[in-house]
Amino acid sequence: MTLDRHLAARIRAEGPISVADYMADCLMHPTLGYYSTRDPFGADGDFVTAPEISQMFGELTGLALAQAWLDQGCAKRITLAELGPGRGTLMRDMMRAASRVPGFTDAARIVLVETSPTLRKVQRGTLAGLNPEWVDQAAALPDDPLFVVANEFFDALPIRQFERGGTGWRERRITLTDGRLSAGLSAETAMPSLTHRLEDTESGQIVEICPAVGPVIQEIAGRIAAQGGAALIFDYGDWRSLGDTLQAVRGHEFVPVLDHPGQSDLTAHVDFEALAMAAGGHGCAYTHLTPQGVFLERLGITHRARSLASAAGDKADEIAAAHRRLTHPDEMGTLFKVLGLYPKGESAPPGLEP
Ligand code: SAH
Repeated sequence: MTLDRHLAARIRAEGPISVADYMADCLMHPTLGYYSTRDPFGADGDFVTAPEISQMFGELTGLALAQAWLDQGCAKRITLAELGPGRGTLMRDMMRAASRVPGFTDAARIVLVETSPTLRKVQRGTLAGLNPEWVDQAAALPDDPLFVVANEFFDALPIRQFERGGTGWRERRITLTDGRLSAGLSAETAMPSLTHRLEDTESGQIVEICPAVGPVIQEIAGRIAAQGGAALIFDYGDWRSLGDTLQAVRGHEFVPVLDHPGQSDLTAHVDFEALAMAAGGHGCAYTHLTPQGVFLERLGITHRARSLASAAGDKADEIAAAHRRLTHPDEMGTLFKVLGLYPKGESAPPGLEP
């Protein structure tokens, strides 16, 4: 069975499916999905993420969470979690740097939220010796103070797309035309949950919602508000998203979203306003949305890059290039943002403003 055929059979049986159903099958179908079947990262893969560009990303992130742990009184037992850990590189670099903070790594129980069996195997190798545990979803995280990181996790969660009519909305759906996948629109209906988007959209414009965000944020924000902790959420996107941001990447190139289902990475911009509002609704404070480059510079990436470069001999240029790639506005520095979550009444995580 190929994913193409599975999708065609599903659409024949159920009728047109939402973009969210399409994305979920493409990325996470248990046997045919993109993440279920491969390790897509790196120069030989389809895309490169910040922790795979340089160890500096994980080191500074780990130290920021360890500082938040110090600021909140050094709880003896905490969960150090990652949502969607990919190859495990970010957690490995975080733990190496944070082990310099006395008591932190002893207090930390590492829990990885990952659904892909293929990537769990890769993570087991990367994190050998650190005794990580795996869970399928955020709801299964332990009830302890929670220090959690997510990089390019929320952009992989399935979105629904709606095109504005007059005051109603037509949902974009995936269907079959002459046996091939194609996009269509449902009939126009009123959508009370999109009333606030009637203020900033015109007829014909597209808005996206990500139904999976609420349940994930509820789990992490609820724990942080009740027991302490902090979240650092990195992704590309903006405070409020507008327009069709769904994209497919294969072999470092953009490809049409409906071509090669299950063989390209599908992502959508993260609507950070929706994340922050969900967190606020569960009693958590949230920081200003901050460009990744600004955050890393505030934490001292220039200093770290210089010290790594001075020890790197003829590899010094590579470190300068990685520093630029992570922080420069023409590269990942402004496209990627970071949002922090923390308990009300505590200070914001380092590098971020309340
Ligand atoms: N954070 C990593 C990988 C980002 S790719 C890095 O920066 O390199 C997205 C990751 O999220 C993958 O590990 C993928 O398997 C995982 N993932 C995607 N959807 C998920 C879901 N619904 N639940 C748990 N993990 C998911």
